[in-house]
Formats: sequence, C-alpha cells, structure tokens
Amino acid sequence: MEKLFIKNFSLLELEKYLINFNIPKFHASQIFFWIYKKGVTNFFDMTNLSKETREFLDEKFVLNSIEKEEAKKANDKTIKYLFKLFDGNFIESVVINQKHRKTLCISSQVGCKYGCKFCASGMMKFKRNLEVSEIIDQILYVKFEEKIEIDNYVFMGMGEPFDNYENVISAIKIMNDKKALGIASRRITVSTNGLVKQIEEFKNLDMQVNLAVSLHSADQTIRKSLMPVAEKYTLTKLSRALKNYFEKTNRIITLEYIMIKGINDSRNDALSLAEFAAFHKAKVNLIPYSKTSSNKYFSASTDENINRFFNILVSKGISTTVRNSKGKEIEAACGQLAGMKTNN
Ligand code: SAH
Repeated sequence: MEKLFIKNFSLLELEKYLINFNIPKFHASQIFFWIYKKGVTNFFDMTNLSKETREFLDEKFVLNSIEKEEAKKANDKTIKYLFKLFDGNFIESVVINQKHRKTLCISSQVGCKYGCKFCASGMMKFKRNLEVSEIIDQILYVKFEEKIEIDNYVFMGMGEPFDNYENVISAIKIMNDKKALGIASRRITVSTNGLVKQIEEFKNLDMQVNLAVSLHSADQTIRKSLMPVAEKYTLTKLSRALKNYFEKTNRIITLEYIMIKGINDSRNDALSLAEFAAFHKAKVNLIPYSKTSSNKYFSASTDENINRFFNILVSKGISTTVRNSKGKEIEAACGQLAGMKTNN
C-alpha cells in the first residue's frame, strides 16, 4: 500500500485514522506537537511515543513531502527556494524581507492552467495540484530549517490557489489550528485570478483570511487580452461576486494591478480602476511589471507613470500602495516563479 502524507491530515482526521488501528486518539495531538511545534523530520524522533507506534507511523506515513534543491539570495535579502517533489516536479517559494515584516510567498500548484500573458508560471504547462502536505511543508521548511519568523503568508507563488480549492482551504485550516501552526487568519492572503465560483464559496466559509484579486485592468477588453480567464469570468461576473463577498464578509478586498507600459497604465485606465475600486470599497496594490523571460513584448511602466497613476487613484479616495520590486536579480518576484531547474 502506498504511504500517505501525514501532513495532509487535520488533527481530527488523524485521530480517526489512529482509532481505526486501535491507537489512542491522544497520540494525534502528540504527533501534531512534534510536527508543528518541534519540526521533527523523522518519526523516530517522536520520543514520547512507543517504539511500536513510531514504527507504525513510519510504515503508514510519509513525513516530509518536499526537499530543498537550491536557495538563491538576492542583495535585498529576498530568498527564493526551489523544492523538489516526490514525483520529480519542482516548485518555488519566496521569502520577501521588508523592513518591518517578512512575507512568505507560497505555491499552490505545479504550473498553472490560466496562461496570463505577463506571468511566468502561467506560461508553464499545468502539471498538477499540490497536496496539502506540499503546501504546509513550504512553511515548515522556512520555519524550522531556515529558522525564519514569517509575519505574512501569501498564496501568490506558482498556481491558482482557487483552482486547488480544497487543498488550499485544508492547508489554511492547518495553518490556523493552534495545535498545528497557529497562524492568525489576518496574516494569510489568498490571491485569485478571479474564479467566480470559488469566490462565492469562499465567502460562505467565514474565514478571516484576506482575499486579493488579480485585476490588472478594469476594462473587459484589456483584461481579457491579458488574462484569458476573463473570457469566462467577465468583469461583470467578477464584480458581482466581489460585491457579494464584501456584503457577506465586510472584508476589504485588495485589487492587484500590474503596471505594464502602454497596456494598462493610461489616465483612462486609472479612472476605470478608481471607479471599480470605489464601487467595491477595495484597496489597490500597484505592482511594477517585472520582466519574465516568457514575454519579450511587455515592459514596466515608468516611475513617472506609476506616480501619476497612483495620484489619480488617491485623488479619487482609493487606498493605494505601490509594491516594491524585490529580488529582481534572482527572478523572485511573484509571477516569476516557474519552478524551472536552472544551472545559473
Ligand atoms: N493565480 C493567482 C496567484 C498567482 S500570483 C493570481 O492570479 O492572483 C499572481 C500575482 O503575481 C499577480 O497579481 C501579481 O501580483 C504577480 N505577478 C505575476 N506576474 C508578474 C509580473 N510579470 N510582474 C510582477 N508581478 C507579477
């Protein structure tokens, strides 16, 4: 029988599993303690369990689902990790070091189905969803192997988190669980390209997790040309879903907006974005486009243009931030994660 990833299990699921084998359920809490509080990477290190129980766990379960292949550090201390999965696929995670906080950018899939024109992961073929364990292990690796204290967790690595909805939600529940990682929901952000059905489902979960939406244009024609997903989930449909989300949760949505020279950075673009954001009481995060090797035609808007765009939004009362580009020389910006194994 194939072994199971133990980190795919919630505490309750693990208790149930153990009970089936006549193992007292309190052992599940002990196992969680070793995994999530101590970061052990070997069942035999779980020293308050009997030898038989440890052998049982080792026979049934896999403890570590990812393996570090390499880490690249940029001058600004951004670190990009390349992880190898059990089937030989690769994913990447990034630690972004800002003055007062550290952010971990988490991948949710190998590759991506959606083919956004500006995004390196989108240009890669979709391979598969990540298991819960593979999502959780990105966090555990940084916490226990690198001993980095992360303040914010964003699902902005490779993949579309809402296309791997169930595993991402289960992973968030393990992140939240005090007996596991105990990470507060407000420190977690899920970023979606605008999958309307999942946004509707997500709002009913009543989780205090932040929602970010990759908008990139408030004009249907432009958005569709950048993001093929907008053909099915038009701005009108997306707008309705966001309105429902806000009405139900009262949570402020962040609209992500990559600024691409001559494509979505005109005065008119700013005005439509301001209108869209005001309607949704949303915040805007402007992101200078970072060049990816998969797209030769796009370049970043100039600083001057970004400032002008920013000022228009602010003058319309929109709460706006501009994202600093981080980790440029190691291609570690969100959307540049392609999980390619390179030799440079
Ligand atoms: N599929 C999800 C999560 C992927 S991360 C989503 O679409 O939201 C997506 C984010 O990565 C974008 O919103 C943007 O913030 C960033 N991104 C992608 N490609 C980029 C690029 N070339 N330059 C800068 N940011 C990029």
